[in-house]
Amino acid sequence: SSAQIGVTGLAVMGRNLARNFARNGYTVAVHNRTPSKMRALVEEFGGEGEFVPAETPEELVAALERPRRVMIMVKAGDPTDAVIQEFAPLLEPGDMIIDGGNAHFADTRRRERELRERGIHFVGTGVSGGEEGALHGPSIMPGGSAEAYASLGPMLEKISAKAADGAPCVTHVGADGAGHFVKMVHNGIEYADMQLIGEAYQLLRDVAGYTPAQIADIFRTWNTGRLDSYLIEITAEVLSHVDARTGRPFVDVVLDQAEQKGTGRWTVQIALDLGVPVSGIAEAVFARSLSGHAGLREASRGLAGPSARPLGEKEAAAFADRVEQALYASKIVSYTQGFHEIAAGGEEYGWDIDEGAVAAIWRGGCIIRAVFLDRIRSAYDARPDLPSLLADKGFADEIAAAQDDWRAVLVAAVQQGVPTPGFSAALAYYDALRADRLPAALTQGQRDYFGAHTYKRTDTEGTFHTLWGGDRSEVEA
Ligand code: NDP
Repeated sequence: SSAQIGVTGLAVMGRNLARNFARNGYTVAVHNRTPSKMRALVEEFGGEGEFVPAETPEELVAALERPRRVMIMVKAGDPTDAVIQEFAPLLEPGDMIIDGGNAHFADTRRRERELRERGIHFVGTGVSGGEEGALHGPSIMPGGSAEAYASLGPMLEKISAKAADGAPCVTHVGADGAGHFVKMVHNGIEYADMQLIGEAYQLLRDVAGYTPAQIADIFRTWNTGRLDSYLIEITAEVLSHVDARTGRPFVDVVLDQAEQKGTGRWTVQIALDLGVPVSGIAEAVFARSLSGHAGLREASRGLAGPSARPLGEKEAAAFADRVEQALYASKIVSYTQGFHEIAAGGEEYGWDIDEGAVAAIWRGGCIIRAVFLDRIRSAYDARPDLPSLLADKGFADEIAAAQDDWRAVLVAAVQQGVPTPGFSAALAYYDALRADRLPAALTQGQRDYFGAHTYKRTDTEGTFHTLWGGDRSEVEA
């Protein structure tokens, strides 16, 4: 029994994580329900490090040093429960089960509780970066106990991505489901980022009249500045790609119906439960679902729109600069919303989440990695109790500088009939937060009128009701 870690579930993610551990000098016991995948891994990549092939769960467990660390990389949901049930009876108090799948954090909380009763540490761990990340260094978001992290953390730090300053992209996020919660919000932010980039592309195409290849160049330029990020980089790659079959831009031959696996939807569902306005993420989820309603879109194709007025060459270049401002400002808002959800989740579930540390581990390895995250980290480092990213002077100043262009872009979008739900939701959030007065006062009046739901006053303490059906005098409720 000499392996430091066992990995069960050797599809793309598990296989690459196992290889990553082995390449970093760890002895890795490997197991898969269908053993042929395990044998193929050892045959193909056995030369990369020390693997211990295990045909059965018993063999995997027998191969591990104590405390045992069993990492599960199988399909999220019922399969994860099935595999936990298989392994838990083979383990002893002090051993660890690490779930690196995309579990819902509520499931992780339940599993952690059940296994804790048996003395087994359950470490629900977010892993981001896709299969390449798993192999070369993902961003890792582990939850679970501090005791488990003390034993597991150094290994995760070794295999994780490293930020530009060399810091490993892993931190102990918090107890039980905190890691999977933060991974969920990461994916929600990823949805919003992708939606905002999509809107920028559509505006450059429809309002400015640029071709996909020209837009790819614009994104490449943006990628040398404050928007420098993995998603902007791959956007340029996708936009410049030409379809071999037709010779047309690849983006023009792909069916425009976006799919989703559910983590964006979870982010919004939980935000609704927590009462956190993540309007940008919600619009991104809705935009994907709208795109998929083929029948509804077909039935709506004849609806009237404005007459398009494409810009001249000079105007187009100026417009592109404005779109960059709008994209950046909207991005600040969408991260503001995502971090609000993380703070609210931490409050609700009693996790002591360090938002700055979360921003720091997203700087490398994961899909939303970006120079921008360093700024967020600094904002939280400067002020750990920052109530909102918009309260950071640096971000507030940048939005102040961007807002005229942001508004102008939205005016153009509305006039030309280009849908920009992400940009619009971000601006509405910004304008609502900075408003002196909101129509919520009117809402309260309406609620009091039809349902005697009462209201508070700006000028005095207490709860009041107006006798709307009577003489309209005010009574204390
Ligand atoms: P899949 O989600 O496609 O899962 C396939 C693996 O699950 C196989 O090893 C399969 O075994 C095993 N499995 C399925 N059902 C059972 C069961 N009932 N009992 C035992 N084993 C079972 O694999 P991925 O590698 O894509 O993802 C693994 C996990 O990582 C998932 O939870 C996923 O959400 C998450 N993830 C994936 C990312 C990605 O980019 N793909 C990124 C980050 C996380 P068998 O070979 O026998 O069928």
